[in-house]
Amino acid sequence: MSQIRSADTSPERQVRSILHGLGYRFRLHSKNLPGTPDVVLPRYSTVVLVHGCFWHRHAGCKFAYMPKSRKRFWEEKFEQNIKRDARVIRQLKTEGWRVVTVWECELADVRKLAVKLRKALTVARARQV
Ligand SMILES: [Zn+2]
Repeated sequence: MSQIRSADTSPERQVRSILHGLGYRFRLHSKNLPGTPDVVLPRYSTVVLVHGCFWHRHAGCKFAYMPKSRKRFWEEKFEQNIKRDARVIRQLKTEGWRVVTVWECELADVRKLAVKLRKALTVARARQV
């Protein structure tokens, strides 16, 4: 049960609620797209990837710290994650998608994040017309 509850306040959920508040319509976890993106906005040819700063190594972010023990293990793990993210983003772009990455730490300032999302989607819209 606690897992279900924590899913409700997950970063993905928060990002969806921001987009919803801005009036955007989207699909969730499209399994037919590379990396099953968290949020897909077909009308804007845009996918939103919500990335945890630790696992996805947000550059320069305090949450992307290196654990002190088992350093080798973590380095390899992170290396794999970074490579996978880069591959997924490349594939999505090849398929004609715009990719917006939202870092978990950006959720600390919801208003700022909303501005970023709206800007990205406004550009996406304009380029399509
Ligand atoms: Zn971060």
